[in-house]
Amino acid sequence: MTDSRARILAGNWKMNLTPGEAIEYFGALEKHMMGHARKSSVHRVIFPPAYDLGTDVQRAAAACQVELGAQNVHWEDKGAFTAEISPAALVALGIHWTLVGHSERRQYFGETDQTAAQRFKRAANTGLNVMYCIGERLQEREAGQTQAVLSRQLGPFLGVLKELLTKPGSARPDKQMWCLAYEPVWAIGTGKTATNAEAEEAHRYIRQTVWDTLGMGVAQKMSILYGGSVTTENVSGLMQQPNVDGVLVGGASLKPEGFARILASA
Ligand code: PEP
Repeated sequence: MTDSRARILAGNWKMNLTPGEAIEYFGALEKHMMGHARKSSVHRVIFPPAYDLGTDVQRAAAACQVELGAQNVHWEDKGAFTAEISPAALVALGIHWTLVGHSERRQYFGETDQTAAQRFKRAANTGLNVMYCIGERLQEREAGQTQAVLSRQLGPFLGVLKELLTKPGSARPDKQMWCLAYEPVWAIGTGKTATNAEAEEAHRYIRQTVWDTLGMGVAQKMSILYGGSVTTENVSGLMQQPNVDGVLVGGASLKPEGFARILASA
């Protein structure tokens, strides 16, 4: 973690908590956060299910200085795309963040590197901050393919990013945040987190790949979060790694007391 990049602490609730439960959650989170210093420079984001993105839940989250984001976004603003989420509608609702390419979308819902990049492009062009997820599966790691998989997943993302950065009048990353989340699939929801060294090695490789494709300026500014069984116990060690700029927390973000401690870790 370095001061030159945005620090981001995020929670992914997946398909948990109703709007009523979400409001209760933020009430509890606010209380638990009172015992901890809050750094204004840290971005705190929770990605709840889409039905929790309404103004009541937004208000409850804002009391904890937490922003809400969508777990997915479509590559069109409207049309015959049943159950998809419109980026323009998110902005109209006051939502500024979205996840793209989460491994559960890739694993269960047919998301590919190409469709994830399409979603990123539209979300970025609509003005959303994007947290773009990548990460290898267990058999890929065991076969020594981690870097090859990360390169393959980064390719379409970096292609879109290049287009965004070179387009005349394009939004710049200092106004909008486009960050990466390295989430090894074998660590998600398994309780088997990457070691600090494994996380740092992957993050260093990801940053080097961004550097090789888009140059030092973009690479040094790109926040890269780690996700995969992050807990109150392992978060500090991960956050101390030079290339880890934040964490994306699934299961452990559902408990306000523990998540308040994680939020205090940056
Ligand atoms: C996630 O879903 O993005 C995640 C990292 O989950 P968990 O923390 O439960 O492994």
